[in-house]
Parts: sequence; C-alpha cells; structure tokens
Amino acid sequence: MVREEFDTFLMEMAAFYERKQQPAQKTFDIWFNKVQKIPAESLMWITKKIQDEFEIWPRNITATLWAMYHQWLDAYPEKRAIENYFYCPDCNDGLITARKAKNGVNYRYIFRCTKCKQNHNRSFPLVSRAELMNDGYDL
Ligand SMILES: [Zn+2]
Repeated sequence: MVREEFDTFLMEMAAFYERKQQPAQKTFDIWFNKVQKIPAESLMWITKKIQDEFEIWPRNITATLWAMYHQWLDAYPEKRAIENYFYCPDCNDGLITARKAKNGVNYRYIFRCTKCKQNHNRSFPLVSRAELMNDGYDL
C-alpha cells in the first residue's frame, strides 16, 4: 500500500472507534514502515474485519494488520498465486542475503528462506538463517 491508502485506513479506523487524538508523525512513520508491504486490495476487508472483531482500538495496530492480512490470504487463497510477499522476521520477500569470505575475498550469496518459503525462484537454495550462521556466513 502507499501512504495515502494507509492514511485512509487510519482515518476510517479513528472515525469508527471515535478516536480523537491523532498519533504523532513519528509514530505514523513507524507504523507505515511496518505495514507498507500489505497490499492495498486487502485493506477494505481488513478494516471491516477489525471493526467487527475489536470492541476497542487494537492495542498493537501493525501486528493486528498483519494478522488480519494472513486471514485475508486464507479467505482468498488465489491471491497467494501472485507474488504477495508477506512479513517474515528472517528474510526480505523470501530472500536472505549473506556474505562469506573465501580466500580473502568477501562473496555475496542469495538464498531462499526456508522459514516462510514464500520465494519460488529455484536458482537460490532453500536454507534457514540458523544454518547460514552455523556455516559461517555473515548476515
Ligand atoms: Zn522468510
């Protein structure tokens, strides 16, 4: 999503929960950074779902958004087919970049994250962060 779409989401949420105080700009930036990978097409569904299920403003709005996004993916499994990358603490869009020195030269390698398996590019091997660290890679 883009910033304007997130703004609209927050405005609708604030109106629903009669939340008069706006978050500080800095808070806003942090929230947006955490959720910008959620595709905008899921936002209307997510907004309604939160409003149906939460009696009060969710305590952790960004975690709630991600949880709802995963529910949306479960509700519309066909959306998974188009590369909709989701949040994984171990990688970026399913890829892990690692470095390792060999004969004094620092090489860069790309792997697919085995934790989320959300990247399907077979030219990169599937590994976990822990395995890479055990093998002496710098992450
Ligand atoms: Zn991952």
